[in-house]
Amino acid sequence: MEVVKRNSRSMNGRYKRRINRWFLLLISLLIITTIVIIRVPRYIEDSNLLKLGYDKIALQHIRKRKLTKTILKNQYYSEYLNEQIKTDSFKQEYLTFYLIKSPITEDDFLLYDRLVAKGYTEETVLKLFEQLYFYEMTPLLVFDHVEDITIYINDVLTNRDKNTEHFFTLTNNYITYYENTEPSPNQDSHAMIVNKHYYLDASFTPKIVPMNVRYASKNVEVEHETANAFMQMHKAMTDVGLNAYIGSGYRDYQYQDDLYKKYVSEQGQEKADSIAARPGHSEHQTGLSIDLNSATTRYNKFGETDEYFWLVDNAHNFGFIIRYPYGKDSITGYSFEAWHWRYVGVELATKVKESNLTYDEYYELYLK
Ligand SMILES: [Zn+2]
Repeated sequence: MEVVKRNSRSMNGRYKRRINRWFLLLISLLIITTIVIIRVPRYIEDSNLLKLGYDKIALQHIRKRKLTKTILKNQYYSEYLNEQIKTDSFKQEYLTFYLIKSPITEDDFLLYDRLVAKGYTEETVLKLFEQLYFYEMTPLLVFDHVEDITIYINDVLTNRDKNTEHFFTLTNNYITYYENTEPSPNQDSHAMIVNKHYYLDASFTPKIVPMNVRYASKNVEVEHETANAFMQMHKAMTDVGLNAYIGSGYRDYQYQDDLYKKYVSEQGQEKADSIAARPGHSEHQTGLSIDLNSATTRYNKFGETDEYFWLVDNAHNFGFIIRYPYGKDSITGYSFEAWHWRYVGVELATKVKESNLTYDEYYELYLK
């Protein structure tokens, strides 16, 4: 009996050991299978990303940013994307932008956003960046929303030979003036904007001071900081033997209203709109605008004077910008006005000058 018992005990033990062994084997198999299930697709993805052109470091970043599926599904790759995806400054939400442009500057990102905010689809914006230069796109911020962007792109390409950052013409017109107008924002700032879109109410009056006849024609008033800035600029000009004085400064709403109505009654609205701003839309109501004359030349020849060329190089150092530059009529809605200068403060004037944009574009891009 004892023997049998011992036998059955040892048989039992062997049986248990066998079960244990099977169990261990099963667990190991399960672990291996799990590893294979996880690892193999990952391995396939990695090798597909490498095939697209990404390097191994980029792969880690793609995975960290959870972009693997998107990139593989759309076969996204550019050398620039491969480089940028490894940097901290990479902006994931602009993934497709990295495919069509390199390098992308902060200004590009901003313009991209502004165009989207203006109602253009991301697809349209990418198309624009693919085909146009920066200065060929910024006018769109001022223009009405263009329904068929291909027409605009073709227009720009047709005129590209004669256009530069300093001169920009198009065959078609893209603005309907005085439509969907808005009150001018930031009316307490020297950066405020007034044009054929943004207007001031009849009640808007800046802090104005009368100008001494040493600096201006009789009865000229301008905004007080503008007055100080002009007097400093005037000194700098006389120091080099030049002399410009203000022929016209602040003009109130009523003045513009009377002037515009007079033109309308004499020549009709269309003609009137081409000569004078509508009331509330004249920048002279801000008190920040000055029309300059040189002592020797009539104002309409101001663009040919030494004073004008000096201003082009130096006015920004005193806070003034040219408001209706040569060759930018299609954007500003005004023919070249060499005599009309606008005070915005030294810092902003310098930036506007460096941008080569009209103030209308600059405002929509950076200040809105
Ligand atoms: Zn003017």
